[in-house]
Amino acid sequence: MTDTAFDLLILGAGPGGYVAAIRGAQLGMKVAVIEREHLGGICLNWGCIPTKALLRTAEVAHLISHAKDYGITVSGTVSFDTAAIVKRSRQVAGQLSAGVKGLLKKNKVTVIDGQGKLLGGGRVSVEKAGAAVGTFAAKSIIIATGARARVLPGLEPDGKLVWTYKEAMVPTVLPKSLLVIGTGAIGVEFASFYRNMGVEVTLVEVLDRILPVEDEEISALAAKQFTKQGMKIRTSTKVVKLDKAADSVTATLDLGNGKTETVTVDRVISAVGIVGNTEGIGLEATKVKTDRGHIVTDGWLRTDEPGVYAIGDVCGPPWLAHKASHEGVLCVEKIAGVQGLHPIDARNIPGCTYSLPQIASVGLTEAKAKAAGYELRVGRFPFIGNGKAIALGEPEGLVKTVFDAKTGELLGAHMIGTEVTELIQGYTIAKTMEATEAELMHTIFPHPTLSEMMHESVLAAYGRAVHY
Ligand SMILES: Cc1cc2nc3c(=O)[nH]c(=O)nc-3n(C[C@H](O)[C@H](O)[C@H](O)COP(=O)(O)OP(=O)(O)OC[C@H]3O[C@@H](n4cnc5c(N)ncnc54)[C@H](O)[C@@H]3O)c2cc1C
Repeated sequence: MTDTAFDLLILGAGPGGYVAAIRGAQLGMKVAVIEREHLGGICLNWGCIPTKALLRTAEVAHLISHAKDYGITVSGTVSFDTAAIVKRSRQVAGQLSAGVKGLLKKNKVTVIDGQGKLLGGGRVSVEKAGAAVGTFAAKSIIIATGARARVLPGLEPDGKLVWTYKEAMVPTVLPKSLLVIGTGAIGVEFASFYRNMGVEVTLVEVLDRILPVEDEEISALAAKQFTKQGMKIRTSTKVVKLDKAADSVTATLDLGNGKTETVTVDRVISAVGIVGNTEGIGLEATKVKTDRGHIVTDGWLRTDEPGVYAIGDVCGPPWLAHKASHEGVLCVEKIAGVQGLHPIDARNIPGCTYSLPQIASVGLTEAKAKAAGYELRVGRFPFIGNGKAIALGEPEGLVKTVFDAKTGELLGAHMIGTEVTELIQGYTIAKTMEATEAELMHTIFPHPTLSEMMHESVLAAYGRAVHY
């Protein structure tokens, strides 16, 4: 049987794979995308989108609990319909996954339902439930198989008492108490969702602060606000053992000072990292290299096997949907010979955590900028000085801007507070355009908006903030 031939074959239809497929089709390529489970990948089905739907419920609950502050009386007790909350989240995910199907169809991308495996020599086999679907060939192949939750020995999820993000997203009843292991964006978002649903949450981090990739000042403010909301936070603490009973788990915590402590909870969420889906995809038939569970690529997403590329989570951190999509477009445009492309600058990839309060950042933290040898000018502007934040009833938060004192180059921006995940894009555009303080100061910001805090934070770095 001869192979069905394409210009471009893509393994995996997450935000990396499906976006690459559409861009390839736009550039005139004959494209097929192979997907074993669900169009839209983790992002649309089990990641970014359904968690944001859950967090919206948490936000509404939070607002209702503060209704009095806005002059609204809500009588009776507020209760939660877990099934309805989860149903809404699943519906949102389903709607978007269906949207991807429509987009692929509109762009005449062939969707092959099954598990793809590289055979070497530009060929891929696909099977579904053990039965062969066919063999395919292409000049270019992109691996976009994504990643899955990392499992640590002794903390293995069982889907019942010890959850990964998948079970945490579809609870049948809300637990009374919850231990969240790991304080990256995923752990913190679930901790925030469940706490706002009234669950007793303990958040454990082995490093000395939560959200360890964020600026230290922002981590500290986040810890303060989460603690105020009733979350228990344990840093420099390692969960060493989980003892399961019929409907509870007792975790042994190593406090790092020779002492241990136990905590008993209804459920545990393990959010200790991500590992690439590199197994069972035929890498052994190629020269593709891996390093600590991720595929190694160059700045143009090329692997060591000619004609084979890799994008998104399977290539390692940061594990973010927008990074996967951007890599997909870049990779395909490079294959098509588009001129004027630039490899991705990791310092221009924004990162967001959609907890209550939200956290967002781009570029170097103050500590990293110092360590890189820059002389700094740092501006800070608190939410309390912003009219829109006060009108919204959201006066807590900070916008911090880091500049190179010598050149005025914008090095980084770090924020905590309501809607900062929307605000960060202002700084991201500025960073991509290599803006300095001069352009940012001359920009006119609409009033009243939270975005004015960006202006004020820039001005503050030069001792010129007006409203604080
Ligand atoms: C709970 C959670 C919340 C998140 N929230 C955010 C967020 O708010 N913002 C953000 O930017 N990122 C978020 N992420 C991360 C985001 O989901 C990932 O970065 C993104 O999905 C990566 O895209 P990808 O295309 O590389 O891989 P995936 O989305 O993982 O897609 C890979 C696809 O490949 C398929 N596949 C794998 N192997 C094969 C094979 N052999 N053959 C055929 N198909 C295969 C899989 O079924 C999957 O559909 C979150 C993740 C989680 C878990």
